[in-house]
Amino acid sequence: MPPSFAIQTIGILGGGQLGRMMAFAARAMGFRIIVLDPEENCPCAQVADRHIRADYSDQAACRELFLSSDVVTYEFENVPVASARIFGDKLPQGSNLLEITQDRLLEKEALCNLGFLTADFLPLRNSEELEIFSQQFLRQPTKVFLKTARGGYDGKGQFVLQTAADLQQFREKHYKPEIAYVAEQALDFDRELSAIVCRNAQGKSSVFPIAENIHRNQILHQSIVPARVPEQIHQKASDIALKMAEGLKLQGTLAIELFLCGEELRVNELAPRPHNSGHFSLDACLTSQFEQHIRAICNLPLGDVRQVSPCVMLNLLGEDMDKLSREKVGKHKLHLYGKKEARTGRKMGHINILENSLEDCSSSMEKIL
Ligand code: ADP
Ligand code: MG
Repeated sequence: MPPSFAIQTIGILGGGQLGRMMAFAARAMGFRIIVLDPEENCPCAQVADRHIRADYSDQAACRELFLSSDVVTYEFENVPVASARIFGDKLPQGSNLLEITQDRLLEKEALCNLGFLTADFLPLRNSEELEIFSQQFLRQPTKVFLKTARGGYDGKGQFVLQTAADLQQFREKHYKPEIAYVAEQALDFDRELSAIVCRNAQGKSSVFPIAENIHRNQILHQSIVPARVPEQIHQKASDIALKMAEGLKLQGTLAIELFLCGEELRVNELAPRPHNSGHFSLDACLTSQFEQHIRAICNLPLGDVRQVSPCVMLNLLGEDMDKLSREKVGKHKLHLYGKKEARTGRKMGHINILENSLEDCSSSMEKIL
């Protein structure tokens, strides 16, 4: 066998559903999988060859993963940067993009430097900056999203302010001076979109069809693909993704959440990994985002991301599971993540609904839940 077909081992930092779906794709391609995650029986450990059960900051465990893997990837962006550095060249994604996307302020700064539009924002890194923001807000109260700079996801760590009373409540009950926040103007967007781009070490990039995302309680509820926007918006969103992949010297996957306001696209946030809004690609594209991610980090030729059917991806949260039945899911594509406990708001799985038209996808969706 030529050396390029020798069995290789991919190490994954993080054992959630994204790691699990990476592992499925990688195994189909002949790779072995080792996952590092602190949780016993986590979604990825259930399908991996080996599980190193340890905290992400455990240097000895990271070294063990390093020594046992040919290539390493991460499935979530809150891996400590110091741990990521241990992997050197074995982590093609590097630690730079990780560092940027762990912090909303660094992320916004990087986006502005690369010339991308975001919502108007003010940094709240200390009490002086909180004062500056407060005075500006009180002069003309408008809707603002306050987000912790680090660690937020699915709307966690966010506060919406509209009135002076909201601000007072934030200052008295929630504000922690040792934490940095970003105060972001609330945008009255027409649609939320996302673009997912993969790029390999040779600099070859590929963008998935643009998804339209509908959130409920700030958690992704559905992705509709292709997004119901004019062709030039699809083009614009793809161009942003390609330009960003080049600008950030991406190796691996980058998901870009966008707000469409009139003709204008503003970047909401970035994720340096496969993304919930890209799950449609598992059934609706010739190559899934997980396969493409594995191809990208292994510097293999990228796959064809052509979409073969309209698709609505429906997320399944803990509270949805009681209402669901195999009968109702019927012919549609159910993906479950192997989580035992169905807590409210916890992502348990998703369904890809494929029909001849998006209208038919939506009516099928209504019948499922
Ligand atoms: P998370 O990391 O929790 O996904 P986001 O910044 O993406 O954080 O916020 C979650 C959701 O909240 C967004 O998808 C959007 O629906 C809403 N949101 C966040 N920021 C804004 C904003 N500036 N204007 C309007 N809606 C926003
Ligand atoms: Mg988001």
